[in-house]
Amino acid sequence: RSQMTVKELADAMDRPTQHVFDCLEQINFAIRSKRDSYIINKLDVITKIVQLSGFRYQMGGPQEIDFEKLELELDAKDDSRSKRPKPQATHLIRRPPVVTIMGHVDHGKTTLLDSLRGSHIVETEFGGITQHIGAFNVKDKNRMITFLDTPGHAAFSMMRSRGAKCTDIVVLVIAAEDGVMAQTVESINHAKSTGCPIIVAINKIDKVNEAQINRVKQELLKYELIPEEMGGEVQIVPISALKKTNLDVLKEEIWTQAEIMELKGDPKGLVEGYIIESTQDLHKGKLATVLIQRGTLMKGDYLVAGKTWCKVKYIYDENSQNLQKASLSQAVQIMGWKDLPHSGDEVLQVDTEHRAKEICDLRHKKEMLVKQKQDLEIIKKKRAEHD
Ligand code: GDP
Ligand code: MG
Repeated sequence: RSQMTVKELADAMDRPTQHVFDCLEQINFAIRSKRDSYIINKLDVITKIVQLSGFRYQMGGPQEIDFEKLELELDAKDDSRSKRPKPQATHLIRRPPVVTIMGHVDHGKTTLLDSLRGSHIVETEFGGITQHIGAFNVKDKNRMITFLDTPGHAAFSMMRSRGAKCTDIVVLVIAAEDGVMAQTVESINHAKSTGCPIIVAINKIDKVNEAQINRVKQELLKYELIPEEMGGEVQIVPISALKKTNLDVLKEEIWTQAEIMELKGDPKGLVEGYIIESTQDLHKGKLATVLIQRGTLMKGDYLVAGKTWCKVKYIYDENSQNLQKASLSQAVQIMGWKDLPHSGDEVLQVDTEHRAKEICDLRHKKEMLVKQKQDLEIIKKKRAEHD
């Protein structure tokens, strides 16, 4: 019906009239008087109140919503990594390590990333300019390392809040002159909480002496980071990020650590990964960097992330090189997203466009349902205050 009195609406839902007044307040609908006989003559307002009250508006009157049941139904039709069959052990192959650089401000993280990346810029039609895509790959013969260059803390809060496991090894940068500082300790704790091994890079050795480097090593003992030379397991590499000293040693240590960890992945099967970051490009449109953790990504594949999806149109590396495919541990920028996914979103390949759309639809519905449930809670609370 397109018009009802407050009383009629309240009765239809088996609620007191005060409940209807609360809903009107909640949706900021001004009424001239608070009478039970007050006529609400807008259908959308009536529908909104019905929804707010946890009902579905249907022919023959409102029907109460069973939120839990609906949520379970939606979840059952959705897809997630945890539901997918785990790869068979025989399918697993060695994969490159994914590294995050952390440390106290001004200790040289950005300089180190730039120096590592600098030696790997390739000449491209864009003049060899590296694009910031949130990650880059460093190659050497047939070995590779993926460095995430989103701020270390961002990568880790993503890992902790969304369970996105997207780092294998942490390189902890400590300026030799300053030693362990507040954010150094924070970084150590971050790494420990996720179980990532730490490689320590004592930086700025171009401006300090041996004694200062040793002092840093001593300090590390307090945090249970025991250098190998002192009988522990932590690799310590003195470097100069600025002068590019010992960066090869650092890379070797990363490969050695990866070797010990026996990092493996499944190159077959449907692609799985995480969104590292996303951006709107003036020319290319919506782009998102995906860290590949399973499968091999090809052009034309369908991916879902959060509430959006993509048909992979182009795959780019950090040098804007157009790739045909991307494999395990590679972080690549993908063009073709309908909307911008969020960093930390789980990425899943699906078989068809239909299924991609279906999953997004389910997730939209789920979001609306959760919103509706929250609104209802607010109204219930208000009513409790009135009573
Ligand atoms: P971030 O805050 O950790 O990213 O630190 P930056 O990379 O921005 O470096 C902070 C400052 O330290 C900059 O002025 C760098 O030029 C300088 N710096 C970084 N690495 C070195 C190094 O190896 N030697 C020297 N002398 N200076 C460095
Ligand atoms: Mg920086």
